[in-house]
Amino acid sequence: MVFYKSQKEQIFHVTIAGFRLFFYLCIMEQFIVSARKYRPLTFASVVGQSAIAQTLKNAIERKQLAHAYIFCGPRGVGKTTCARIFAKTINCFSPDSNGDACGECESCKAFAENRSYNIHELDAASNNSVEDIRNLIDQVRVPPQIGKYSVYIIDEVHMLSPSAFNAFLKTLEEPPIHAVFILATTEKHKIIPTILSRCQIYDFNRISIEDTVVYIEKIAKNENIDYESEALHIIAQKADGSMRDALSIFDQVVSFCGTNVTYAKVIENLNVLDYEYYFRLTNAFIGGDYCTALTIFDEILSKGFDAQYFIRGLNSHFRDLLVCKDTRTASLLEVGSTIAESYKKQAEICSVAFLFTALDITNACDVGYKTSSNQRLHIELALCKLSNITTSHKIEQQSAKIAENIEKNKQETGKQQTVEQATAKTAEEKTKNNLTIDETKETTTVATRPETVSIKGFSSLTESINIDTKDTKQEENNTLQMNESFTEEQLLTAWKNCAAMFAKKHTRFASAMIATKPVCEAENVIVFNVQQIVQKNALEEKGIAKNICLYLQKELKNTAVTLDVRVDQSGDKVDAPKLYTDSDKEKYMREKNPELANFQATFELYDAK
Ligand SMILES: [Zn+2]
Repeated sequence: MVFYKSQKEQIFHVTIAGFRLFFYLCIMEQFIVSARKYRPLTFASVVGQSAIAQTLKNAIERKQLAHAYIFCGPRGVGKTTCARIFAKTINCFSPDSNGDACGECESCKAFAENRSYNIHELDAASNNSVEDIRNLIDQVRVPPQIGKYSVYIIDEVHMLSPSAFNAFLKTLEEPPIHAVFILATTEKHKIIPTILSRCQIYDFNRISIEDTVVYIEKIAKNENIDYESEALHIIAQKADGSMRDALSIFDQVVSFCGTNVTYAKVIENLNVLDYEYYFRLTNAFIGGDYCTALTIFDEILSKGFDAQYFIRGLNSHFRDLLVCKDTRTASLLEVGSTIAESYKKQAEICSVAFLFTALDITNACDVGYKTSSNQRLHIELALCKLSNITTSHKIEQQSAKIAENIEKNKQETGKQQTVEQATAKTAEEKTKNNLTIDETKETTTVATRPETVSIKGFSSLTESINIDTKDTKQEENNTLQMNESFTEEQLLTAWKNCAAMFAKKHTRFASAMIATKPVCEAENVIVFNVQQIVQKNALEEKGIAKNICLYLQKELKNTAVTLDVRVDQSGDKVDAPKLYTDSDKEKYMREKNPELANFQATFELYDAK
């Protein structure tokens, strides 16, 4: 309890307090949210709904007013604003030459000061019962005191209960002459058809980003606020087609940034992911650098961004890049001029094929995100796939080129074949002049056949080539690997095995091999001593020596091994059997059986020698 010395002092203090309160109220009064402060007052100033505004204006000019309208469309696109302008215009006493309200007559003033009795707004979301509608119907009967029309705006009309709708039907069909209903809704499909058929329906568009930006720019200039165009684009994008949202966001950003609205501050305040991340990521994808991609993703998560929000953003980024690839679609890019430049630059280094694949991957990732049991890995996997696109495309291109070359070769060989066939055919025709029709048919079938034969022949040829190359490759590999040392025992077994292998084909050499022990002279040089020069020549001419050498190389796992075939001069010492000629055998047989000489003499069976 405060005690004052005199009544005068008390009056003085009370007066001071009063002034203070008045002063504070004045300051508070100064701020009105932009959405209210800049609410359009004429049809011309309505943003992004020019067609609807023009239609309504024309209807007023021609005095062809319906008694019920439905304004439907997303939130914040100007439905209620248009309804208010409409109500104001039809009640104006002296509309101007453009058909707009004058703003000066008693009715217009009443509208401007929010005290008009010609407009009634009902929120159907909270007044949705039959009782509420009955109250409304009672009100509708009373004609307006000033002006011609009473306009009833019913917001969120889809929230009315079915019985309330039915109670409303009769009034809606035959309202009093002074009543106009405007039903606003965001969900037209929830309104029963009997209501829809009694109304004129106007579909409001979402407001484009460009329109939103232009309008915010106007407000910013009016409020003496500096701005970066990119910042306003972010606001417009975040608003998603709703002007009211855009203006609310703008107010929020202004209270955060002050009088300078910058891109950096806006994305910070609105928690929007910077474009820069997507540009960096795409560069990493093109370079096949999955490590950078994964680290950028980690950085984004650590800043508190939602992973699905990120993947959707990445998807739109690819979409924007795709749109930039062609001048016909370039207008679909809805970003500020600086960022648009970056988009164009990046679009130049991305192929359309890359973007298609990337869109496919990000979209699939977004769709499967909710059901994934490890969501982070789910996205990381997508990032790895994106980093692999360029490589896989290169491989595809290469294989396509190879296939093309094969096709060319096929065609060329096919042509050759057909030319050969044709010449053969003409030669045949020349020889057989009197051919019957059936026979010609046969020849045609024969002529067509070789094509397939040639292709088959070609493919088998390529197969064999492939096999050959494979073999040589394998051999090369082996050559590289084989360099092992070996013992005398190992050499001996290898030698015996080789002889066994030759036993069938080259019996003579096999027996010679068995009879002779290989001698390892110097390093990796194996000496094969044979009895006669004929043997040596035969071994070398027929390539058997080479085969033996290869066999030994393989068996001993040493490619440095060489075979040196020598004729043993000291033949007597060697206990190996001689190689018998036919005359040797004859001589032996004669010695064993002397009768053979008589036999030969009688029948003159002598050698040519
Ligand atoms: Zn007026």
